[in-house]
Amino acid sequence: MIFCPKCGKENNEEAKFCQYCGTKLTSLENKKPAQKRLQAEKIWIEKCPVCGEGPLVYHDHKGMLGLTTIHICECERCGSTFKKKGKNYQLTRVTDKSNHVWQEYGKQVLAEREWINIANGGISDAKQQEQDINSWLVDASHGKVTFADTNSPVILKKNERAFLFWSDIALWEPRVVRQTRGSYGGQTFRAAKGISFKVGNFSSHSESHEELRTVDQGMLTLTNKRLVFTGSKRTNNIDLRKIISIEPYRDGIASRRENKQKTEYFIGINRVNINISSNGHEYAIPVSGIVLKCIIEGLIKQL
Ligand SMILES: [Zn+2]
Ligand SMILES: [Zn+2]
Repeated sequence: MIFCPKCGKENNEEAKFCQYCGTKLTSLENKKPAQKRLQAEKIWIEKCPVCGEGPLVYHDHKGMLGLTTIHICECERCGSTFKKKGKNYQLTRVTDKSNHVWQEYGKQVLAEREWINIANGGISDAKQQEQDINSWLVDASHGKVTFADTNSPVILKKNERAFLFWSDIALWEPRVVRQTRGSYGGQTFRAAKGISFKVGNFSSHSESHEELRTVDQGMLTLTNKRLVFTGSKRTNNIDLRKIISIEPYRDGIASRRENKQKTEYFIGINRVNINISSNGHEYAIPVSGIVLKCIIEGLIKQL
């Protein structure tokens, strides 16, 4: 089979001229890349991703000054339009905005391959990644994922394995601060980049409030039994079985444990990535608070 460079339709291998538009068909060797490209475009525009029927038809529009050309594909059936952006296409318009494809992918710029997936009931790469990571987190929190061993300066005990190691983590602890004027009632206290939360629920009558301060800077190791912080001043050896709760933040966790009054905040955990495998796809994701919380929950279930 040979594709016409002008109209993109299939012709016989031996054909000298396109049987649809009459364009002269040159040899396969000369036209290979162009034909390949036409073939790919033909496939993606065959089936409209919005209505699932299509086909899409190309329209070229001149830009404001007539210097640029805007490539638009429009569905002959539902009127949806896609604007070419580099190698990809942006869904720019639909006639019915309640359509689920518009709801999920309206204004998004996706590759031809992704639009083909969507036209056939699939999802975009970003959505696939989100699904894969979510299902990995659920598995992790149930203790159903395995981890590779990592190096850590912590001396491991019998049957203990280190899974995650951070070389630069800040340890924060709350301390009570006397308040002489003004009110912090319900105010969000922005502690550092990426971490912000309500510091208690203080009424305008309160005379003191909690403030977080950096206690130490050091290394953090997660094993299948412990979370170990080794700083310049302190060593916090947290038995996973003693953890009562973990509150996740984008770049850290707040951990509460038995026999310790103060919450411990470990900040800077998202600077380390973890390699995960989910539904046959591989990702390297930052260890955010929610990721570490799920991992620790799963490890606790195995103790
Ligand atoms: Zn032709
Ligand atoms: Zn359509």
